[in-house]
Amino acid sequence: MTATRKRKRLVIAIDGPAGSGKSTTARLLAQRLGYLYLDTGAMYRAITVKVIRRGLSKEQIPEIVRFLPDTRVELEQADHGVRVWLDGEDVTEEIRTPEVDREISWVCQIPEVREKLVSLQRQAGEKGGIVAEGRDMGTVVFPDADIKFFLVASLEERGKRRWLDLKRKGIDIPLEEVIRDLERRDRIDASRDISPLKKADDAIEIDTTHLTIEEQVEVLLKKIQERFGDVLEF
Ligand code: C5P
Repeated sequence: MTATRKRKRLVIAIDGPAGSGKSTTARLLAQRLGYLYLDTGAMYRAITVKVIRRGLSKEQIPEIVRFLPDTRVELEQADHGVRVWLDGEDVTEEIRTPEVDREISWVCQIPEVREKLVSLQRQAGEKGGIVAEGRDMGTVVFPDADIKFFLVASLEERGKRRWLDLKRKGIDIPLEEVIRDLERRDRIDASRDISPLKKADDAIEIDTTHLTIEEQVEVLLKKIQERFGDVLEF
């Protein structure tokens, strides 16, 4: 008689700077494993959309804190990524605009915003079977994740990827400007006091500069297989 082994549903944490390949890699990896894909940047982006719509600035943080309890941010798994819902409205396209890129760095540093979203993120990961992607997955949100990755890539390559993404959406911004914005966002993300962008001590660093998306997914899968061989066999 064959013993039935229970398949372990892992918590996989992926962090790294903007354009390092996190989102696509995390989404495809989740698909391959039949896991939930948690795009935490999308959650911070949704809150930023609300802040922009209300015309609120850095000087009006108490007003932002006041609307948080009644604010609903939901991620829906769709075929080509996640759909993002803010208070019942689909904001999937709106969260990716350059305006959101500009404002998000201060919005995501509001402690109450992080508290709310971190709590939702932990709830999503409670039962395992999740690929969580962001800046503080391995350090703050899931410090006990089964496996942690930290993706890096050269600034030029990351800029090109982001530029292409925007171009595909019909947003035409000079490459130099896209690179400048990435650099600025990285600097703020890495130097902030609250949940800075930082590689967890036990994270596996992967340089994606010269890797295609498919190769990135394969590299991660191989590392997961090396550590938890049988989770992929069932
Ligand atoms: O991943 P993405 O580029 O969509 O994230 C947008 C911004 O949200 C980041 O530049 C970062 O400032 C913030 N963020 C964060 N913590 C996360 C995910 C994103 O502070 N876990």
